[in-house]
Amino acid sequence: MYYQNTIQESGNDISNLKLSLNKIQGLFEITWGRCPRNIKDVTMTVKTKICSGCHKRKGSTQFYKCFSNKSGLQAVCKACSKINQKKYYQSHTDRAAYRKIHKEEIKAYQDLYYQTHRKQRKAYLKANRKKFLEYGSQYRKTHKKELKVYKEANKEDIANKQRRYYQKNKNKIDAYQKAYRKRKKNERNNEST
Ligand SMILES: [Zn+2]
Repeated sequence: MYYQNTIQESGNDISNLKLSLNKIQGLFEITWGRCPRNIKDVTMTVKTKICSGCHKRKGSTQFYKCFSNKSGLQAVCKACSKINQKKYYQSHTDRAAYRKIHKEEIKAYQDLYYQTHRKQRKAYLKANRKKFLEYGSQYRKTHKKELKVYKEANKEDIANKQRRYYQKNKNKIDAYQKAYRKRKKNERNNEST
């Protein structure tokens, strides 16, 4: 048959294979990117085959067809192929899964960015301070319910975070509070006189 000859002629060279398949496109539905599965008459040279995924020997019907392999079958069985596809799909679409897999690279990149952009970040925050404060107070007004639920659910974490923050900035906070109390006291004194 014409297409079988074309495939045999082109041998293993995948670009030739694609060219010859372009000639016969139209005859079949061909999806690129993977082994086309819907070519019905791929010559299968084997009846059974050991799957390179699960290492079990399985009958040829347990493998998807793949004309670029000598056997006419994919290297992994249908079950493994499905698992692989699912893994691939998840690792490329699910952000949480992606982050988990690439945790270290992401961390390294973030650390580097944090160190190299210190000045820019500070300048940016300073320049937009007013905007951020306004946004924050607006957000707190419009999300009262959500914030309450969040606070309730994360009580301990929040308390720990505050404690750590205080320990780290103890001197600054104490000085600020002292100055605040002094200012208030002066204000009261001025009012009463
Ligand atoms: Zn398998």
